[in-house]
Formats: sequence, structure tokens, C-alpha cells
Amino acid sequence: MSRIEAEDEVVGIAADLIRIDTTNTGDPATVVGEREAADYVVGKLVEVGYEVERVESGAPGRDNVFARLPGADPSRGALLVHGHLDVVPADPSEWSVHPFSGVVRDGYLWGRGAVDMKDMVGMMIAVARRFKRDGITPPRELVFAFLADEEAGGKFGSQWLADNRPDLFEGCTEAVGEVGGFSLTLPDKQGDPARLYLIETAEKGVAWMRLRARGRAGHGSFLHEDNAVTTLAEAVGRLGRHRFPLVVTETVDEFLTSVSEATGMEFPRDDLEGALAKLGPLSRIIGATVRDTANPTMLDAGYKANVIPSTAEAVVDCRVLPGREEAFLREVDEILGPDITREWVSHLPALQTGFDGDLVEAMGAALRAEDPEARTVPYMLSGGTDAKAFEDKLGLRCFGFAPLRLPPDLDFASLFHGVDERVPVDALRFGTRVLDRFLRSC
Ligand SMILES: [Zn+2]
Repeated sequence: MSRIEAEDEVVGIAADLIRIDTTNTGDPATVVGEREAADYVVGKLVEVGYEVERVESGAPGRDNVFARLPGADPSRGALLVHGHLDVVPADPSEWSVHPFSGVVRDGYLWGRGAVDMKDMVGMMIAVARRFKRDGITPPRELVFAFLADEEAGGKFGSQWLADNRPDLFEGCTEAVGEVGGFSLTLPDKQGDPARLYLIETAEKGVAWMRLRARGRAGHGSFLHEDNAVTTLAEAVGRLGRHRFPLVVTETVDEFLTSVSEATGMEFPRDDLEGALAKLGPLSRIIGATVRDTANPTMLDAGYKANVIPSTAEAVVDCRVLPGREEAFLREVDEILGPDITREWVSHLPALQTGFDGDLVEAMGAALRAEDPEARTVPYMLSGGTDAKAFEDKLGLRCFGFAPLRLPPDLDFASLFHGVDERVPVDALRFGTRVLDRFLRSC
């Protein structure tokens, strides 16, 4: 029998995973498919000889799968390699192909989860299988984790596991998962393409809050001075329009310096956001990492046209830079004023780690072995991932590293949670080769 490389299996595995609908609506009552996806992962790992542990994280059907591969040097900390099995909803009527078809067309694998993140989960499974088949012992122990509920903040996934089953992560000191390792192509000083691979070393904090105004209930036809809807609407308007101060964190500073070195682009601090626009579609993510943001997303008040309700509520999606939490909340409370109360809907810390050390070196070396032009740069994700639970609760040093070499003109950022989510087949195979090298040398 000829040897099967990990990259030969990855497209089929990722396609199989896409075909299992694991829609996470955020409402635990309507979540589907995580158990079926876990069954699939278990099958693929057990087939090649892994012993797996399957864990339900706080509610029926919220299945997670763990597998360990011992390393050559037990004195070194283990590396957690994590991916989530759930996806956000997709409306088939908006798509060019059915979102759960997992079809390969025009050089792409299509479907919900193709970049977030059944691509990486497929790569993890393919590499784990090849290591076992070929009897490869990695330098340090590897812990593969396939997780539920990332798309709703990990309450029934990473957060629950870190709180209730820390033993599953025993010995782990560092972690890799989403969202990073993908290429961004920009013209260099000579106008030739420079390929930068963005490694995630920081994440903004999540601060979703419910605002509430209370007033006096009354008849809609009377004079009324104390209307909760008016009070709330004014506060939401003030907060939604507010611009928080520009703060260039260590990670963003290093990112900008690296991009400048590679391309000659300049990022003057007095027009930073203007300059960031030169990064193309990715500027939507990078631009959101130089300020805290507060976007009102939900409003709720009243039940009849002529009844003034006594309360009105809004939800605001706030994202906070590392080190800014206290100052941010002071600023928010000042803007809201004394008539508004707030409570947490979700509150997860920001993360930031340095872009140095052996693991970072190993990522760069693995990328350059497959793409000699690769330059690695650190960046901050404006969103949040399962890494929050692992850093905050388990003290792991977390990176986003799901390597993909992307076509220069692909608007990668728009594919996350987007319509017609898809991943280039070449990128998936490339990423698998890089992950294989990385896990054999880290
Ligand atoms: Zn994701």
C-alpha cells in the first residue's frame, strides 16, 4: 500500500465535516450536529489507533473530543491544538451552492465552516492520522481538542471544559487554534508581491452589555417627562456614535512596523485609520484593533403604540483592547449617565502575548519551508475565540495559527460568517503540509 500523506486526506475530511450541519444559533435549545460531528472525529481518530476521550460540556449533545499523542521529551510542556466543530447559521437562499454541500468547485471547497473552521479541523485530523499511521513521535506531547459552542462564546464548550475538566489540558503550556496563519499579499518596495502571514498573538476583549432605562409608565397621549424609551434611545445614540481614543498596543505596533519593513507603507499616527485602508479588505479587522468599539445591536421596549413602557433595553457589542478595560468602562459609564444601568451579557478578557520564543520560530520555519517568501507578522484579532478560556482560566500562551496560503485578491475577512464561505483547495493542502512540519518541529 502506498503511503497516504496528510494533504491527500484533508479535502475529503473537511468536506465531510461541512456536510454535517453543526449550526450554533446561540440558543442552546436549537443547536444541532455537534454530537454527530464528534462521532465523525472519533471515527477518524480511532481508525488509526488513537484512544480518544469524549466529553459533554454542560448540556446534552454538546460533545467534545480529546486525543493525546505523546512527545519525545516528556519534560516539555504539551501543545494544545484546538478547533471548534460548530458553525454559525447559513441561509441557503443566499448562497451559490448549498451551505452544507461541501462541494469542490472552481478550485475551492465550499460551505459553512470552510474557513471557520472546519478547514483547520480537517487539517488537524489529517495530520493526527498521518502521525499515528507513520509512527511519528512529535518533539513534545500534542493534545488535539475538537470543541463545541465556540460560536456562542464557549459557555457549553471551552469555558465549561476549562472550569470543570482542567485535567483534559493537563501539562499543556501553549496552544494554537484560530484565527491566524493566513497570508496577506501586498506590493513590496519594488512592486513585487510580498506575502505576509498573520499570526494571531492578541485578541480584543468581549464586553456585551445590556443597558436598561427605567421611567414612569403612562398613557401615550399625555404630557410625559419620564419616558424610558427616550432616555434609552439617547444613551444608545451617544454610545454608538462615540469614538474611543486611538491606542496603538504592542501587538499592533509590531504589526505596523513589520508591514512597513516589508512594503515601505507608512502608518502615520495622525492618520492611522486612513493609512490602514491601504491593507484592503483586511483593514476591517486591523482597523478595529486600534480603538475600543461599542456597536448597539439590539433594542427592546414597549408593547402597544399608546402605552409608554416603564423600561427600555438595548444590547451593545463592545470590544476592548488589551489593557483598556478599566478606562473603557469609566468612559462608557460617563457617556451613559446616571439614568442607565448596565449588566453583562458576555464578558471575556482581552489577550496579548509576545511574538517571540521557540513556538513562534517553529511557525515561521514551517511556513518558509513551504513558501520561501513567507514573512510572519503578529496581529490582533478584533473578535474572540476559545483561546480566551485557555489563557484566562488555564494560563496557556495562545496563538492563532491555522496556516493558509491565499490568492492575493481573495477577500478572506468577508468569508468569516459570510455568504459563499469557501477555502481554496490548494490553500488547504498547503496548510496541512505546514501544520505537519510545525507539529513535527515545535
Ligand atoms: Zn471560529
